[in-house]
Amino acid sequence: MDIKEHIRQIPDFPTPGILFYDISTLLADADAWQVTMGRLANAVRSHQPDVLVGIESRGFLVAAPLALKLGCGFVMARKRGKLPGKTVRYEYSLEYGTDIIEMQEDAIAPGQRVVVLDDLLATGGTMAAAVALSRQMGAEVTGAACIIELSFLGGRNKLDIPVTSVVAYD
Ligand code: 5GP
Repeated sequence: MDIKEHIRQIPDFPTPGILFYDISTLLADADAWQVTMGRLANAVRSHQPDVLVGIESRGFLVAAPLALKLGCGFVMARKRGKLPGKTVRYEYSLEYGTDIIEMQEDAIAPGQRVVVLDDLLATGGTMAAAVALSRQMGAEVTGAACIIELSFLGGRNKLDIPVTSVVAYD
């Protein structure tokens, strides 16, 4: 099945000149979503993860069902101020300014094998931050995976771990 046929491209979102890759149409199609999850599961299983980290918010849609499928834990990496209790944070650079992601301080035990998941890899800044935060907590990050990779932006070059994507745009 060609998963690209189920991904809608929306011009000028969120700002003029940006082409947005919309996974809503993929999520809405049971067969296409199942095939996508199956492909991701095959790649991620090989890392033998203890925990999958999903990046807010569409990364949750990928990581949570995959964790159930693989029988491992699911941990949320969230934007600043969203998680209750004590958190660990990582600040990273954006094109203009910085952003912060957080995890609960006991979410990952030192030495646990982690794969980080998001819906889409663009410049790689978000994924690299989630990898760095997981490592800050003592995780052994064995890989990263996403549904869509915008290869022309070279995001995987920011990552020192194997990256799997289901579809790539050159
Ligand atoms: P990066 O940090 O790699 O430049 O951006 C990736 C992050 O931005 C991901 O968390 C992803 O959800 C979001 N993102 C950026 N562009 C798109 C897009 O076109 N479609 C979707 N679904 N997410 C995007």
